[in-house]
Amino acid sequence: MPYEITTRVVILGAGPAGLTLGNLLHARQVPCVVVDKFEREELVSRTRAGLLEYRTVETVRRMGLADRLLKEGHRHTGCEFRFTGQRSYTDFSELYDGRSHHVYPQQEVVADLLDGLVAAGGDVRLGVAAERLEQTDDGVTVHLADGSVVHAEFAAGADGQHGVARASTPPGATTEYEMVHEFQWLTLIAAAAPSAEWTIYAQHERGFAGHLLRSDTFTRFHLQVPVGDTVEDWPDERIWDELRARLAHPGWTLHEGPVTSKNMLDMRSRVAEPMQYGRVFLLGDAAHIISPSGGKGLNLAVADAVELDRVLAEHDAGTATLGAYSTRRVPDVWKAQEFSHALLHMMHTYPDEAPSAAFRQRLQQSRLWQLANSPAYARNFAASYIGPSPVGG
Ligand SMILES: Cc1cc2nc3c(=O)[nH]c(=O)nc-3n(C[C@H](O)[C@H](O)[C@H](O)COP(=O)(O)OP(=O)(O)OC[C@H]3O[C@@H](n4cnc5c(N)ncnc54)[C@H](O)[C@@H]3O)c2cc1C
Repeated sequence: MPYEITTRVVILGAGPAGLTLGNLLHARQVPCVVVDKFEREELVSRTRAGLLEYRTVETVRRMGLADRLLKEGHRHTGCEFRFTGQRSYTDFSELYDGRSHHVYPQQEVVADLLDGLVAAGGDVRLGVAAERLEQTDDGVTVHLADGSVVHAEFAAGADGQHGVARASTPPGATTEYEMVHEFQWLTLIAAAAPSAEWTIYAQHERGFAGHLLRSDTFTRFHLQVPVGDTVEDWPDERIWDELRARLAHPGWTLHEGPVTSKNMLDMRSRVAEPMQYGRVFLLGDAAHIISPSGGKGLNLAVADAVELDRVLAEHDAGTATLGAYSTRRVPDVWKAQEFSHALLHMMHTYPDEAPSAAFRQRLQQSRLWQLANSPAYARNFAASYIGPSPVGG
């Protein structure tokens, strides 16, 4: 049944960014509505990220929604790097103030945030896409696919890279900085118990391979594949052959199981500056895409929401302008981009025909050697991997 409502903040997208903002605003009794094109079943079944920075866990904990995360998620304190027959374990937690990550699948984070908001009486409208976003001097209007209309003072565009908020940016209002990486990943989930209690990044002459924890029974793997390959080029037997070869280490066994999903990943990075136009704020993937190495996308999305809630509160109190949102977020976004880029180039194999491939490969070996042998280098790396402190300490 189409409706027409007026609220203070209309939030496009019930992903990590939109739901975090919805919970924070609702807790401060700021009227808001969250809309998403998907129904709950689809929202909570999309397997994507799983590495939660300390600040992300803290945000969810402070919202009172971390019971399941802390019970079922796994604390994650280090990573293993494999390269040229060597193996080195970097204990990020020991190197960086005892802080750790949690491994807890994104779809579970979304379920907890969504259920928490609904249980608290938040206004969440699922199953109908936003089609159009209009802005005037006084407010914003969102038109939904079923004819419904939402009027608001502000719009939070948390509807991902293909959503309406990004697409509605007036020409010249923001600048998008983009880089298409020279690598391609096949990413997959296997119904297999993890083969180690930590993430493994392997640099091998045949290409990068990653082993990432998701749960006691599922593991995510990444494989660097030639640019242009399709999923059809990678039957399961070929995947396991490559994972066995690239992750191999004497005495270590790879746990195998049925592949439950596999996708080719678009390796591109993008940042919009500023992350705002007028009364519309861009959050998460709508504002920036980051290569998946380092697991920063979800964490940036949640951090955007925390900052926007803070800026709206300060704006109401007369202590900040709306522009503070982008000014404060952009440096953190670029810091994550820089780290993700460095990690990408530390672990990948350059094709022989790539410019200066042999030289760059040796630079890469030096970075891996420094990580294993230089405490100062490793601590700096650990600080970026663990991520900044939560807003408010
Ligand atoms: C395979 C994979 C692995 C990843 N691994 C990691 C990791 O380990 N760590 C990490 O931090 N990040 C990771 N990421 C990135 C992370 O998943 C994203 O950065 C994160 O989902 C961004 O959250 P978001 O809320 O901005 O957007 P999304 O999660 O994309 O949510 C956007 C929401 O908007 C809705 N929407 C879109 N269009 C409309 C519309 N027109 N109307 C209404 N609703 C709409 C969508 O249905 C969706 O629910 C990974 C991504 C992929 C694909």
